[in-house]
Amino acid sequence: MKNYKRKRRLPVQDYIDGILRGDRVILSRAITIIESNLEGDKILAKEIVQQILPSSGKSIRIGITGVPGVGKSTFIEVFGLHLVKEGHKVAILSIDPSSQRSRGSILGDKTRMEQLAILQEAYIRPSASGDTLGGVSNKTGETMLLCEAAGYDVILIETVGVGQSETAVHGMTDFFLLLMLSGAGDELQGIKKGIMEMADMVVINKADGDNVRMSKMARLQYQNALHIFPQSESGWSPVVSTASALKNTGISNVWDEILKFKELIEENGYFLKNRNHQQIKWMYNNINEELKQLFYGSKDIKSQLNELEEDIVSAKISPVKAAQKILEDFKKSF
Ligand code: GDP
Repeated sequence: MKNYKRKRRLPVQDYIDGILRGDRVILSRAITIIESNLEGDKILAKEIVQQILPSSGKSIRIGITGVPGVGKSTFIEVFGLHLVKEGHKVAILSIDPSSQRSRGSILGDKTRMEQLAILQEAYIRPSASGDTLGGVSNKTGETMLLCEAAGYDVILIETVGVGQSETAVHGMTDFFLLLMLSGAGDELQGIKKGIMEMADMVVINKADGDNVRMSKMARLQYQNALHIFPQSESGWSPVVSTASALKNTGISNVWDEILKFKELIEENGYFLKNRNHQQIKWMYNNINEELKQLFYGSKDIKSQLNELEEDIVSAKISPVKAAQKILEDFKKSF
């Protein structure tokens, strides 16, 4: 009975109508379908996304990253509350691809942002990305479109800041925010240069109490560090600021910078250009994933690959020739 209830689905139009009128229960149920791996759900999910597409896109998409403990949840809560006060509707999608989140930690997250979670203007959803990068782009990306269609005009996508998921999140957002701490080297914080390079803004969090002076110094250091990166195509120079999520200082400044950024890229055309580029890249990423699955998922190919591996090791065939041979055979099967 429980199983039956969980899998019960509505007609497509009910999801569309519900999402468009901002019904959070329907929105959540539609996101569950997006996250589902059942074949029937996959078809339904594509239909829902296709139909809400014209109503999506009207938001600013912000990626937020930083190592565990930097204060992401605390920051997002006060930042979200600020945005709601400014009249916005905020959707928060959290990704943690390094660990498959259990229901327990999902609830844990909700309690961590408890003031925000009870507001009608905020929607918090841990994003079940599975364990592939393709999963992050597809499931989180489509969830984001649904939230936009439901009227959320600020989308915050939170990720952990140590893995590859940052690249995926950067590839689906307009603005990338990196939270850091003072007094710890980059290596200690596990932040890779590539992630620094993606940042439109670096916020040194926990700039309170004894930490204020150190945070100001860290700010200068990061400012200098960011100067060595080439100018971004957006025309925006990354900014570094300090904040305390705990004491709620420096938070409104982050939003002010994002608004300045948005104004700049809307004026110089980068906003649209980047979004179009992201959409097209999303398609190619999907094609690449599907092709890989088609190829490596085939039983025939698997056994041929095993044989070829042996032939390579025993120098019967060169690696290049082996690759060519198997691809030729694969092409013939079409
Ligand atoms: P997350 O793992 O990045 O989501 O970090 P959390 O938001 O869970 O915060 C980790 C710890 O740092 C918690 O104990 C917070 O209370 C604390 N914290 C978060 N922001 C600040 C801040 O601005 N100042 C200080 N002093 N502590 C903070």
